[in-house]
Amino acid sequence: MFCYQCEETVKGTGCTVKGVCGKEDEIAAYQDLLIYICKGISKRNLAAMEKGEGDPKVGLFIADSLFSTLTNVNFDKARFSDLITSAINMRDNLPVTGNSEPDACTWKPKSETDILEKARTVGILSTSNEDVRSLRSTLLFGLKGIAAYYTHASILGKTDESITTFLQRGLASTLQDLTVPEMVALLMECGSTGVTTLSLLDEANTSAYGNPRITNVKTTVGTLPGILITGHDLKDMEQLLEQSKDAGVEVYTHGEMLPAHAYPAFKKYTHLYGNYGGSWPHQKKEFERFNGPVLVTTNCIVPPADSYRDRLFTTGLTGYPGVKHIFASAGGKKDFSSIIDLAKTSQPPQDLGQGGADLITGCAHDAVLAIADKVVNAVSYNIAWYEQKALLVLLSLLSLGIKNITLGPKLPAFVSPAVLDVLVKNFDLKPNTTVDADLARMLKGL
Ligand code: SF4
Repeated sequence: MFCYQCEETVKGTGCTVKGVCGKEDEIAAYQDLLIYICKGISKRNLAAMEKGEGDPKVGLFIADSLFSTLTNVNFDKARFSDLITSAINMRDNLPVTGNSEPDACTWKPKSETDILEKARTVGILSTSNEDVRSLRSTLLFGLKGIAAYYTHASILGKTDESITTFLQRGLASTLQDLTVPEMVALLMECGSTGVTTLSLLDEANTSAYGNPRITNVKTTVGTLPGILITGHDLKDMEQLLEQSKDAGVEVYTHGEMLPAHAYPAFKKYTHLYGNYGGSWPHQKKEFERFNGPVLVTTNCIVPPADSYRDRLFTTGLTGYPGVKHIFASAGGKKDFSSIIDLAKTSQPPQDLGQGGADLITGCAHDAVLAIADKVVNAVSYNIAWYEQKALLVLLSLLSLGIKNITLGPKLPAFVSPAVLDVLVKNFDLKPNTTVDADLARMLKGL
């Protein structure tokens, strides 16, 4: 395997034996192959769309497939195997584009061994030129960021064909030999499509659940059994709260779901108790002590400890072998009764001893714009990137002409020295140094 899509990558260069995230060699192979087939789908569907014959299901399928390969989303081989089968069927139902189609448009596995062998020839390292590999990888990971945000918006009923068309154009572009300026232009388009996607997601969230308000969130624990929910899927949050409101249990958020407390639509649920624990790196210790069931809605799932594996549930695009998965019905409804029933038989959460101080969330655009005159002049961007969504945010800022961004804690392994040089010269991008030095520099406006 070779994967260098996130900040945790081994030695800042690449995971080659097993991911620091827990991704096994075999899953990496399935992910690489799924992306490869998606490139073939994209090539064929774009040609079909020009003739008005595109398959309308392709856009969301591509988004879901890319999102599945994001860091800490899905570790389940069976789910990737199903996705690869669906991808090949989808591609083969699209019109052939000519006599000399790329291999991604035609290759099919005859066995699982074929998948593993083929994956070795189509992953990141199949592009030999370091700078071309860097530009293609940056684009691919930016596309994954778009896919993640787009999938969330589409779950709430907001879609935009221009976004899914760009996903396909981006993927198909990596099958061609483009010039460096052409690849850089695609990166900027990826950033501007990121802005469109983030705007779509904001519209999806706020039209469904209202504009976030600055909100204090308890960090203590109650006396009733609890359900812990993490990830970013607000629709899952809504369905869980609605189904559990009279069950005599309390719902807690973990890490990634903390912002849900700020949405007005969730404030009527008095059993939404507070936030338990910190962010995803603390899952093992904190999920163990929670005692009740834990629902992981999107990234980030870390390989679970045995102590809580049997009360862990995944849903949506997340997955882990041996962990119970809750599928949606055709209409998007999910039945969380097994989680609620398990919670009723659980002990209340153990107090993590966080001192009881409230957390504050809800600093979304409405809240910030209300004090814009005070904050605008004080902004400096210091991006702590971890995975592909943060990369997309960086590309989005660059596409808006924002310069002088500080990036860290480590620079992405997929940015080659020559590409970094371009970013530094054109955008004044700076790597992190130390907290004290960066802070002192930024407070001077440098
Ligand atoms: S996602 Fe990150 S930690 Fe996981 S294999 Fe890739 S680079 Fe390594």
